[in-house]
Amino acid sequence: MQVKVKFLGGAKTVTGSRYLLELDHQKILVDCGLFQGLKEFRLRNWESFPIDPKSIDLVILTHAHIDHSGYLPKLVKEGFSGPIYCTYATDELVRILLLDAGKLQEEEAAYAQRKGYSSHEKPMPLYTIEDVEKVFPFLKPVDMNEEIQLNEKVNITFFNAGHILGAAIVKMKVKGENQEKKIVFSGDLGRYHDPIFHAPARIPFADVLFMESTYGNRSQKEQKPVDELARAIRETYRNGGVAIIPAFAVGRTQMILYYLHYLQQKGNIPDIPIYVDSPMAIDVTKLYKKYTEYHRLGPLLEEEGANPFLHKNLHYYQTQEASMSLNAIRGDAIIISASGMATGGRILHHLYNRLPREQDSIIFVGYQAEGTRGRRLLEGESTSRMYGVEVPVKSKIYYIEGLSAHADQEELMEWAEGFASKPKMTFLIHGEKEASETLSQKLTEILQWNTIVPEYMESFSLFEGI
Ligand SMILES: [Zn+2]
Repeated sequence: MQVKVKFLGGAKTVTGSRYLLELDHQKILVDCGLFQGLKEFRLRNWESFPIDPKSIDLVILTHAHIDHSGYLPKLVKEGFSGPIYCTYATDELVRILLLDAGKLQEEEAAYAQRKGYSSHEKPMPLYTIEDVEKVFPFLKPVDMNEEIQLNEKVNITFFNAGHILGAAIVKMKVKGENQEKKIVFSGDLGRYHDPIFHAPARIPFADVLFMESTYGNRSQKEQKPVDELARAIRETYRNGGVAIIPAFAVGRTQMILYYLHYLQQKGNIPDIPIYVDSPMAIDVTKLYKKYTEYHRLGPLLEEEGANPFLHKNLHYYQTQEASMSLNAIRGDAIIISASGMATGGRILHHLYNRLPREQDSIIFVGYQAEGTRGRRLLEGESTSRMYGVEVPVKSKIYYIEGLSAHADQEELMEWAEGFASKPKMTFLIHGEKEASETLSQKLTEILQWNTIVPEYMESFSLFEGI
């Protein structure tokens, strides 16, 4: 048997994760992400898929984040009709996320049409909510830690990756005519001391490893993110302003809610209302209650006053009208809204309203990719273009480092050290060029691993004649 890989995304970038494995004539796609951020990347979503989606036999999904799952509706629309394997929590989360993505696509196309600023005659969404619903029958949820036989040549097992609810590391066993080989995809790896999620599972063996490297060049050891978050909120409160926290509704929002509750309980930040402005947050929070084995919060969710997702200061705002009504609040409040990189969604109207106000603040709590509005605001742009208008940036902008759901450089190295023998080959993926290359060097210098930082659309032969 011959095994090849082709990098259809997630190479020298953190978005568009899609890795195509070819086992003789069998085609397996690991993750099926949307490109986000820089226009150069986003345009790839509109190009025809590099191979005929009909020819793909199955998809394996490491977790629900859109940069790993958001291309699925387009893949199905273009003829893919095989199973999509994922964990049970991912199955439920990805439905929520894809429906939201479909809605966003529809809204953006309608908006572009109204404003007439699209270069297309009639702006079309990449996919619609209807397209999203056609993905659901193909989802095949399976248990974590259980070996699943996909066909006579391939077995897979999902192991806990931390990161977000249901996120998994994938171990694949490939049976050739003579030999069996192990291929491991790290997916996105979580932290070792996260208050919500368990540390990523240790995987002792891999012949070939695909390892994420988002923070391959960054250490978060020296950071005191929770103290910094508290300071930013106290400063905003003293200025009589409102703190806006752009955060993704899945994972990041729950993490922030955990810390805000903790800080309010300890009296480190004022006892002010917290508004979660998201149509998805309630559904996602329910999933935390359903899948207690996937995280550490279990008992807290049952206890009155201890539940960070349900307490007197916390208000969930679901409808668009409720969301708009938050613009009238003049001070003493915290508003959490998506998207986390301020590229779209409800956060835009909050920024439009708050950026010109000196007393308000925008607190970024997560990684801001190249090309996003979040990154530009952090780099100090003096105006931000929104709804066709240049909005002046007067509010205070904070960046809290170290609250990431991604392992940092030390944690990535710690995970790598968990291998009992070194993988014969390791591909560093899901990282900007410098991050992947730095981790690649570290793995080579410290652990003497063979590493490659692949290019977009590059192919490699993994095994021949096995
Ligand atoms: Zn992720």
